[in-house]
Amino acid sequence: MRKVEISPSTSIVVLTGAGISQESGLDTFRDAGGIWARYDIDDVATPEGFRRNPPLVHEFYNTQRREAATALPNPAHVALAGLEKAWLGRLLLVTQNIDGLHEKAGSKALFHMHGTLDGFLCEACGRRGAWTGDMSTSSTCPLCDRHGALRPDIVWFGEMPYHMPEIYQALGEADLFLSVGTSGTVYPAADFVREARQAGAVTVELNLEASRKGRGLFDLEIEGKAGESVPAFVSDLLNGRLW
Ligand code: NAD
Repeated sequence: MRKVEISPSTSIVVLTGAGISQESGLDTFRDAGGIWARYDIDDVATPEGFRRNPPLVHEFYNTQRREAATALPNPAHVALAGLEKAWLGRLLLVTQNIDGLHEKAGSKALFHMHGTLDGFLCEACGRRGAWTGDMSTSSTCPLCDRHGALRPDIVWFGEMPYHMPEIYQALGEADLFLSVGTSGTVYPAADFVREARQAGAVTVELNLEASRKGRGLFDLEIEGKAGESVPAFVSDLLNGRLW
C-alpha cells in the first residue's frame, strides 16, 4: 500500500455521507428502509418536484428538520471534530449531509455541499439565511419580507452543489482523503476519491461495507460502523500508527 507521510503539513480532506449519522438515529437514503424506500426522489428532491407540490416538499424537510434538531452527534462526529482540533496540517470536512451534527460535535472547517436543513433560500430575493422550525408555502422571508417564496436551502438533484471551487482546490492539494458513510452514488461527491487520487493522495474508506470494492479507488477499505471505526482510525492517525 502507498504510504502517507504524516507531518505537520499533511493535508486531509474528509467526505462524509448519511452513514455517519445513522447511529445518531437519522435514516440514510439508499439502505433498506432508507428515505428513498419511502419517498420518490423526483417528488421531494428536485426543483420540478417542488414546483409540482410545494406543501409535500415542505412537509418532507420539516420532518427531517424536526428529527435532526433533537439528534445528537455520535462518536464518529466527535472524533472528526477532535481530529480537526489536534491536526497541525490542513483539514477540510465536506459533508453531503443536511443535518447539523458535525457542527454540534464542534467541527469548524466544514462545507455543507448539499446545503442544510437549518437554512432558507428565498426565490424572490435570491438570498440565503438561517432558519429554525417548520417552513411552509406562506412563510415570510426574513430578508425581503415576501410571503410564499421560501424553499429549504437544500441542493436538489440537477442543481450545483455549494463550495465546489474550494472543495476541488482542497482535493488537488490533499495528501490523505477519507470517505466516511457514503455509498458513492451521488455525483460530484462520488468522484472526489478519483480527484484526490489523481493529485497523489492516499485514499481511505470507512463504511459499513466497502462501497466500490475491487475498483482500486481506495488504498484502504475499513468496514464497520462509523461510530467505532472512525474514532479508532483517528486515534491511529494522531498517534502516527497507520503507515
Ligand atoms: P446513502 O444512503 O446513499 O449511503 C449511506 C452509506 O452509509 C451506505 O453505503 C451505507 O452502507 C453506509 N452506512 C450505513 N450505516 C452506516 C454506519 N453506521 N456506519 C458507516 N456506514 C454506514 O447516503 P449518501 O452517500 O450520503 O448519499 C448522498 C445523499 O444523502 C446526499 O445527497 C445527502 O444530502 C443525503 N442524505 C443526508 C442525510 C443527513 O443529513 N443525515 C440523510 C440521508 C441522506
